[in-house]
Amino acid sequence: MHEVSHSFIALAKTLELRWQSYRSSGDFDQFVEFTLSLNGLTERLNQQNLPGLASACQELENRALGLFTDHTLRPVSDEQAAAISQQLGAILQLLQRHETPAVITKRLTDHADDERDPWIRQRNVLIVSRPGHPWSAALVEQLSFYGFRPHTLGWDDEAALDEAPLAIVLVPDHEASTYPPQALDALQRLKARYVASYVYCLSVPASLEAIVGLQRAGANVCIPAEIKLSDILSRILDLVESREQETHRVLIVEDSKTAVAHIQRALDLHGIDSRAINTPLALLQVCAEFRPHAILMDMYMPFCTGVEVTRALRQIPEYQSLPVIYLSGETDIGQQVEALRLGGDQFLTKPANPIILSAVVKTKIERYRDMLRSGRHDSLTGLLNHSASKEQLAQMLRRSLPAGHLAVAMIDIDRFKSINDNYGHPVGDQVIRSLAWLLRGRLRNSDLIGRYGGEEFIIALGGVDMGQAMTLLDRIREDFSRLPHAHGRGALRASFSCGIAAVPSYVTASALIEAADEALLQAKRDGRNRIVAASQKRPAQ
Ligand code: GH3
Ligand code: MG
Ligand code: MG
Ligand code: MG
Repeated sequence: MHEVSHSFIALAKTLELRWQSYRSSGDFDQFVEFTLSLNGLTERLNQQNLPGLASACQELENRALGLFTDHTLRPVSDEQAAAISQQLGAILQLLQRHETPAVITKRLTDHADDERDPWIRQRNVLIVSRPGHPWSAALVEQLSFYGFRPHTLGWDDEAALDEAPLAIVLVPDHEASTYPPQALDALQRLKARYVASYVYCLSVPASLEAIVGLQRAGANVCIPAEIKLSDILSRILDLVESREQETHRVLIVEDSKTAVAHIQRALDLHGIDSRAINTPLALLQVCAEFRPHAILMDMYMPFCTGVEVTRALRQIPEYQSLPVIYLSGETDIGQQVEALRLGGDQFLTKPANPIILSAVVKTKIERYRDMLRSGRHDSLTGLLNHSASKEQLAQMLRRSLPAGHLAVAMIDIDRFKSINDNYGHPVGDQVIRSLAWLLRGRLRNSDLIGRYGGEEFIIALGGVDMGQAMTLLDRIREDFSRLPHAHGRGALRASFSCGIAAVPSYVTASALIEAADEALLQAKRDGRNRIVAASQKRPAQ
């Protein structure tokens, strides 16, 4: 099996070594290697949902790529090298200290034994505007509800945060007008200081000049003037959405050792895990074991061709849409068309350029995984859907039994029908989304949050007993009941009721759900906007 090192530290070390070896040798090939590993790191950071740091890396990569074309500049001038060194230094420092905002979030949320309360996240958001801007105040209020720590700053103020903000939001003085030089200066200053923060510019006029100007100053996202505040909020929340962060896996079916080494090196650089087999005969067994997200398939092998293997693979329902990318020295267009017609997704000519190879693999995998994902997730809220929630609960239960704790909560919004009736279905939808955001913002990445039905949610908290679950959910219940939901004539308040059941009183997924559901009904009967614990008297089944 091929060993892949995935840690950021390892990637950062490689990057640093490559840069040093270019600096000491002046060999342009080393510079190319450096750029390649920079490209790999960018991909990796993107995969890990660290867009701020990824875009800092990408900027450096673009700077380095810019030097590829200038033949007169080999070796790279001292001035350019110094600029690269400085930019690289800043990125490495962030990586090595592991102090990127999202990594901190992950650390705080994934280790329940952390000294601090694992449900209190340190997620700073910096809002920059003129003092007293009404949008700024509204954002502060909303972001705090969803578990962020908003801070406000004037255009000319110095930021003084204990930790780098996850996001920086710029609110212009006037809607849809060009950002003044003062705002651009502030943006540049903040971006220099907080390399890894993701910058949103609000209410940007639809002018290419304005957008390019802001991008140059360091903006990551320019939000058009007509976008509502609630949608802006959803974009920020998407940034921290707890995505499944499983590494991409690729199976290489190839009889040439040289080709395998070349391919694995390229994938390795991009943090893509791979395994290679030199004969298609082992294919089905390895697929079942390794569960690849894509296959790189040689066209010509002993026994049979790649096309024959792919056709056979497509006979098995599980692999019908698994991406297959053909690899061959074949330049005959007819052959390639035939191969694609028979169920391959793409054709790459060997030896493939490593950047193109990885980009193709990544794109195919992402599309495939999005497809798999859309079958498991609810489109309104992005949470797990009913059946996926049940599957995940069963998984969590297997992991926590026999000795561990696990609590399951069923949540149902109170008198939701009357919200729909009085304010309309779209407002009702927004209330559902708000509760989803609140749960996503307050719970850990490892917790299960699912949309169980229309306005009903299921939650499972690993390693948590009944008492802890009651305290945690009661805090969320109270906050939700205070959260204003905008409608055409003002704002409404909503509440939810909740029932909780926990291991060891109940030890199967269906018993936990049923007991939590019964407790939820009791909460409704008791007057709503409250939490009821399922009876713990019953002996464990
Ligand atoms: P209770 O406090 O007893 O839970 O009262 P309720 O009105 O919330 O209960 P009920 O289950 O009767 O009503 C739920 C309503 O939710 C009925 C359905 O029309 C509505 N609903 C279900 N899914 C959606 C959705 O996706 N969007 C919107 N806007 N409404 C939905
Ligand atoms: Mg071959
Ligand atoms: Mg209901
Ligand atoms: Mg209801």
